[in-house]
Amino acid sequence: MNPIAQISRATRPIFRSVTTSAPLASAAKPIPTTGFCFELSDEQKALQELARKFTREEIMPMSAHYDKTGEYPWPIVKKAWEIGLMNSHVPVHCGGLGNIGVFDECMIAEEMAFGCTGITTAVGGTNLGQTPVVIAGNKEQQKKYLGRLIEEPLVAAYGVTEPGAGSDVAGIKTKAEKKGDEWILNGQKMWITNGGVANWYFVLARTNPDPKCPASKAFTGFIVEREWAGVTPGRKEQNMGQRASDTRGITFEDVRIPKENVLLGEGAGFKIAMGVFDKTRPPVAAGATGLAARALYEATKYALERKTFGVPIAYHQGVAFLLADMATGVETARLAYQRSAWMVDHGQKNTTIASVAKLHASEIANKAASDAVQIFGGNGFNTEYPVEKLMRDAKIYQIYEGTSQIQRVIISRELLDAAKQTNA
Ligand SMILES: Cc1cc2nc3c(=O)[nH]c(=O)nc-3n(C[C@H](O)[C@H](O)[C@H](O)COP(=O)(O)OP(=O)(O)OC[C@H]3O[C@@H](n4cnc5c(N)ncnc54)[C@H](O)[C@@H]3O)c2cc1C
Repeated sequence: MNPIAQISRATRPIFRSVTTSAPLASAAKPIPTTGFCFELSDEQKALQELARKFTREEIMPMSAHYDKTGEYPWPIVKKAWEIGLMNSHVPVHCGGLGNIGVFDECMIAEEMAFGCTGITTAVGGTNLGQTPVVIAGNKEQQKKYLGRLIEEPLVAAYGVTEPGAGSDVAGIKTKAEKKGDEWILNGQKMWITNGGVANWYFVLARTNPDPKCPASKAFTGFIVEREWAGVTPGRKEQNMGQRASDTRGITFEDVRIPKENVLLGEGAGFKIAMGVFDKTRPPVAAGATGLAARALYEATKYALERKTFGVPIAYHQGVAFLLADMATGVETARLAYQRSAWMVDHGQKNTTIASVAKLHASEIANKAASDAVQIFGGNGFNTEYPVEKLMRDAKIYQIYEGTSQIQRVIISRELLDAAKQTNA
């Protein structure tokens, strides 16, 4: 039996009560809370243990292979699917286990990322693709497209970025025009995780050509199937790190989309595309935390084995302090993602703290990976040792799902708005 099913049989009512799959428009109902608690429930501990075991047994032995070959890790994705470590947020009416919650998804992400963030991104990419349908899909859309991912080990993708626009989402040029009961999609996406392996995509397109139309009304979100005529994924991009993940451009040429595949309604796309990040940035931050934890683990082990001047290098204060800084980073990054996940699971607005978590964990991962390479000395620069991969893999955390600069834009905007209101 699917281990997650065993865990969740007893706890499903609890999970359901703390999370929501409600459409974007309806706010989640907050659940009463009793105060601070840092203890995981027994079910969460079991879930964490399951993800940890999977990481040790399935991901870690294969991570160097996928990094070298750049193959998509289908066998691992299929095993994760089988034991229920994927699609945990798919609602019950689509055949899912019910909302396990962003917090729990984060726990899984941190554990897997300890093993390989390339593989974690392959899994995270499908969650990102699904989230628009989770938050904004109607029952039929959810049943058809989320249900499909439960029935078979398939993955989804999120298609927003284009060659000419990433941070500035309102600058995208892909367009869809209404023709009778269909929309005709034309344009090009870029840097799409799972772009070549997804069964379907969330695609954001401009549907109001008037340049004066505000972003909140100018774009529409669509579900687009990979097999439809006119959909062409490009070559797999050769990236610096996270090479197990499949990143591609996608071209859309006169793709006919039935009106049933519009999410929420014409003009609602921008809000949906941005709204997903409240739920998806915490797991990205959790992945970065997992990478930092791995850097700390490897560096500590090595520092206790490697001797210079007659003692293990860990006993040189210069090295020990690097480890202390890494440990501090891991702890604070974990707290930040946990808080941001807890808030969204409890129906609280978490946009700012999700950005704080994503920004902080990304910076921590990069510093920890770089310091781990430093502790390994010359060996750290070599592919035979595990830390050079961590350094290559860490960089993307400062770029995807909103760059570190964009997270600062969000945090500072919120901060300044609040300050202006206080002073008004
Ligand atoms: C491996 C990988 C996977 C990805 N997966 C996906 C995916 O699945 N789906 C998807 O839609 N996209 C995906 N992306 C795209 C990613 O989200 C974008 O690359 C990212 O948002 C940055 O956009 P850009 O590359 O166009 O850079 P630009 O927006 O051109 O930014 C260039 C630089 O300018 C800075 N900058 C831009 N605007 C500002 C500002 N206002 N203030 C300060 N600095 C600013 C940026 O921080 C950056 O340093 C992925 C990218 C990569 C590399």
